[in-house]
Amino acid sequence: MASRGATQQSSAPYNRRIVLDVIRRAGRISRREIVERVHLSPQTVANITNDLQAIGLIVARRSGGTRSRGQPPIAFELNPDAGHSIGISLEPGRLAAALVNLVGDVLERREVPIDTHDPRRTLEAMVAHIEALRVLPARSGRLFGVGIALPGPLVRTDISFVGPTALEGWSDLSVFDALREATRLQVFYSVDSVAGALGEMLFGVARTLDNFFYMHFGLGLGGALVVNRSAYRGADGNATEIGHIPLVPGGRPCYCGNAGCLERYLSLHSLAEALGLDDVRGREAEVVSALASGSSPALESWCEEAAARLRDAIGVIENMLDPLTVVIGGSAPKALVTHLVARSQPLHPSVRGGVERPFERILLSERQEESSILGAAVLPIFELLAPRLEVLQQEESRRGTSAVEDLMGQRDSARAGRL
Ligand SMILES: [Zn+2]
Repeated sequence: MASRGATQQSSAPYNRRIVLDVIRRAGRISRREIVERVHLSPQTVANITNDLQAIGLIVARRSGGTRSRGQPPIAFELNPDAGHSIGISLEPGRLAAALVNLVGDVLERREVPIDTHDPRRTLEAMVAHIEALRVLPARSGRLFGVGIALPGPLVRTDISFVGPTALEGWSDLSVFDALREATRLQVFYSVDSVAGALGEMLFGVARTLDNFFYMHFGLGLGGALVVNRSAYRGADGNATEIGHIPLVPGGRPCYCGNAGCLERYLSLHSLAEALGLDDVRGREAEVVSALASGSSPALESWCEEAAARLRDAIGVIENMLDPLTVVIGGSAPKALVTHLVARSQPLHPSVRGGVERPFERILLSERQEESSILGAAVLPIFELLAPRLEVLQQEESRRGTSAVEDLMGQRDSARAGRL
């Protein structure tokens, strides 16, 4: 699909992002091919690729292809070492953090149990892990910032910060402003499902998709709707909390006050309950092995019910939203999710069914267990790598402090930013 550049002088950062986006999506692409895709003049594209090379965001290599005469053409790629970001995935009782480069490779990863009931102690743990991880990029490239993914809903409502799948005991997110203060790094945060969706869009199975639904299967169950490559937020920023859709009449009581919510059947928390465990995280290998051998009747009956609820959920999502596909990611073991998806077939007839489509109705994240953390790490670089004109227009009056910020129109904020 062609991207349309803007022509006004003030939109130069937008055009640079358009070109950078085309290079990222293609993986490797020649200048001539870029010109064909972006509706900008060859001279403008040449100026932009020169700028992007000068600030180190892209590198030029001779492509491997052979030509009948002369040298193979030069192709541009994102420079993986142009910068890094740190992603932190917060779930009740657990913190995972990773250092990720500009093409989504996880360079270093840490995971620890923590008491997330107390935001101050969580802050101390986040600072400690960030300090340990930031040592590496100090030697090469820049650190774009820290992204944090956490269970929603984040905007205060009846069902925010309640129940064992949310960060109980939290009342607001000022802890992320304190993190910005303590680390002097740009800090961005988001609901884990939105972060996961953005991660799949930049580096995963959704990299060529303009619209899709993302299902986050972790301790709880969340969702995100991507429309025109932006996450739909709803009136208050709490959209698509599918875990609390009451799907089973008279079903299991939920901590949100309803009964029969989807998350009470389709989440790692519900699995732990069914197996009589406090937590299945850390015991994933046991679960996957019992799944393969069929040795656990409790697991078997949980799977049967969870697969039926997954089938219902896909039917609701498809008929409501008609997405190109539903991508499933999160922190659940990939073998478990694969099993549930297979068992949920045949899916309900829906507006997505019955016709030959370019995508399967369900796609699994290739990163599965890492999709949360990768999504978190994407937050500080998302605006750089995914051009959204409205963001740049809001930020036009601001100027950054480095060549990358000036040329790409990045913001520098004193507070934590939400995506
Ligand atoms: Zn509920």
